[in-house]
Amino acid sequence: MHNTQRLFDERPEESDFTASIVFIGDDYIILDRTLFYPLSGNQQCDSGEINGKSVNNVTVESEEHEKLSMHAPIRHYLDIQGLTVGQDVHGNIDFLKRRKIMKLHAASHLVEHFISQSPEFISVEGSFVSHEKDRTDYKLSANLSAEGLISLESQVNDFIDINQPITFKTHNGLRLWVCADIIMPCCGTHVGNTQDIGVIKLSRKNKGKGINRIEITLVNE
Ligand SMILES: [Zn+2]
Repeated sequence: MHNTQRLFDERPEESDFTASIVFIGDDYIILDRTLFYPLSGNQQCDSGEINGKSVNNVTVESEEHEKLSMHAPIRHYLDIQGLTVGQDVHGNIDFLKRRKIMKLHAASHLVEHFISQSPEFISVEGSFVSHEKDRTDYKLSANLSAEGLISLESQVNDFIDINQPITFKTHNGLRLWVCADIIMPCCGTHVGNTQDIGVIKLSRKNKGKGINRIEITLVNE
């Protein structure tokens, strides 16, 4: 197995890296290390270039690997012509896109924290974060009202404003997102401080059967 070191875990604020090609497939390469975050679970993959070639998609070789190892093979889909195994390459990610994803992903944790404290909260039913928005489906015993949404938005924006650092720790092999006293399992990329998120806006859709979809957008983007 050609494992890939996840440089984005330790260096989420960087955009350029060098790496070696360890495997070449029909339309993808595997590197020994990468800053490209792969599409996995609930976060959009990074965009960018490797040796000037546009990277079309980034995936983890198998979901099973992802569960077993933090260093599962990561596939970078691109035009493989002229590339060889063992070759050193230069990669650069679209950092504006990455930065928006990091802001929205951090905001998503805060919205989940505050909504999960309400008596109506039952469960999180799914989520996805892109550079445009985060959307998360919450199962609630009563639909969130317009006033409830405004109140939630204020709670999150007030918390963002108090400038809390965002860090990580590992427990029993699980990567944990930590902000003040909030701890949630997560393998995604995030800004390092709540103030880096800026002001957020919430909107909601009632999906039926108690599912309330809450979408987060960045006000200053
Ligand atoms: Zn996260």
